[in-house]
Amino acid sequence: MNNVTSDTTIKGTAVVSGVRYAKAVWISPRPELPQAGEVIDESQREAELERFTTAAEAVADRLEKRSASAEGAAAEVLKATAGMVRDRGWLKAVKKGIQGGHPADYAVVAATTKFVTMFEAAGGVMAERTTDLRDIRDRVIAELRGEQEPGLPTVDEQVVLFADDLSPADTAALDTDLFVGLVTELGGPTSHTAIIARQLNVPCIVAVGEKLHNVKVGDMVLVDGALGTVTLDADPETAVAAEQESKMLAERIAQWTGPAETKDGHRVQLLANVQDGNAARIAATQSQAEGIGLFRTEMCFLTATEEPSVEEQAAVYKKVLEQFPHSKVVVRSLDAGSDKPVAFASMADEMNPALGVRGLRVARANEALLTRQLDAIALAAKELGRGEDAPTWVMAPMVATAREAKWFAGLCEERGLIAGAMIEVPAASLMADKLMPYLHFVSIGTNDLTQYTMAADRMSPQLAYLTDPWQPAVLRLIAHTCKEGERTNTAVGVCGEAAADPLLACVLAGLGVNSLSSASTAIAGVGAQLSAVDFETCKRAAEAALDAEGATEARAAVREVIMKANA
Ligand code: PEP
Ligand code: MG
Repeated sequence: MNNVTSDTTIKGTAVVSGVRYAKAVWISPRPELPQAGEVIDESQREAELERFTTAAEAVADRLEKRSASAEGAAAEVLKATAGMVRDRGWLKAVKKGIQGGHPADYAVVAATTKFVTMFEAAGGVMAERTTDLRDIRDRVIAELRGEQEPGLPTVDEQVVLFADDLSPADTAALDTDLFVGLVTELGGPTSHTAIIARQLNVPCIVAVGEKLHNVKVGDMVLVDGALGTVTLDADPETAVAAEQESKMLAERIAQWTGPAETKDGHRVQLLANVQDGNAARIAATQSQAEGIGLFRTEMCFLTATEEPSVEEQAAVYKKVLEQFPHSKVVVRSLDAGSDKPVAFASMADEMNPALGVRGLRVARANEALLTRQLDAIALAAKELGRGEDAPTWVMAPMVATAREAKWFAGLCEERGLIAGAMIEVPAASLMADKLMPYLHFVSIGTNDLTQYTMAADRMSPQLAYLTDPWQPAVLRLIAHTCKEGERTNTAVGVCGEAAADPLLACVLAGLGVNSLSSASTAIAGVGAQLSAVDFETCKRAAEAALDAEGATEARAAVREVIMKANA
């Protein structure tokens, strides 16, 4: 197994940083699913229907009660899950199965399978609901059998929660005073578990693989959410010290006010990644973001069946721009295709959509789609009176050649927009010297740059050890891009998930990156970490990472450089 570093230290994908030393608990197992075959006698079917209705009601009631005692997003998720148990379509399908002679538990499985297949075929947001559907299936089956409801165990001390995967209902109900860490066998950095863990700010590791089952209930475990490691035989004294240090860092984060600079005053601009006006408002009001470094415009149109007019688009863009009336906003032109299908812009079926007609490539056959979007961005900026104090930058995704950069920059200049490109195709990094003369800035998309450099699907949990921006191969491409940026006087930012990792942020600053753009919730952690090191240390950390054999070694080497510098 590539994820395993030793028999007692198991490695997964780091999602939320923080060190915790506590007992392990496992989530209660899912019930075994019944097979087809048994037929209920006609005289018993009415009673079986009754049994099912009572069980479904009990599950829905319990979820609703938990929703009432939860808050915010967690309450919403629990309420929505309870609503799914009461969904008329699903109930009808189960009842039909029972009336047809299936035992209730099998009828639940068959009805759920039918809906899962339908949702998966619909793809996108619908496909993401299938975890919730399977979750309610398991809860109702356990209730029918009188078994313990699958999910969170009851605990009275601080524990780290282990699971194959976590359902939204489990994660939403989590009491973070007791469940102080999360570790899963499956999932990925963008899975539901990861998203909720980030929101709750609970140290979290996903995609550990089968070795996770070496951890037994009651084992003392040292979980390091930044390194992505679970250590079984940690020396208790060292473990407690590491936990203390991590808590002190959390306090520093809470006190950090920005703007970001290293101990010795080297500035790094911290910006926010947003997908709509609401996220921009949160970034503006609840974080220290100095502006927006990535506005993912395609996310505004995932459900649109027709292309919105220039005026309609401008209204959408204004909602984001107006949140930062005096700062830089980087708008990305449509990154349609691959995992983000946009009905009016994406290609029909492709054999290999991640390597297909996505991002800027869509506009080659449909330039007007791009120019209408650029017109809309220019219109939005003009209507808001944005001038030099509030620059509106525009960048293209998936640029691979200098010719593409030149073409895009020309279209931007015609509209008075400041042009840039994402560096997320390795070719763009390798050819940076040829691309940059056409551009005002570049922004490195480490999510795709890692996917394409490592030839590993960013959505694959099995390949999470490869889709890790700490891979020195990826860092070498970033280093090369920065060198060319400095030589050609082109601003270089990073807007992939790497920009949210405080340790990696030191490396990126050391490599010469000028700005880091991430989810606004990650900004304070990055800023606090940068404020704790000097620029020379960042440079040494960058050298150590570039020289490492792999991602794990790079993390460890950087940690050591920083710890030594601060000793
Ligand atoms: C990236 O690829 O790193 C990026 C920021 O773009 P997206 O995640 O939207 O593909
Ligand atoms: Mg990308």
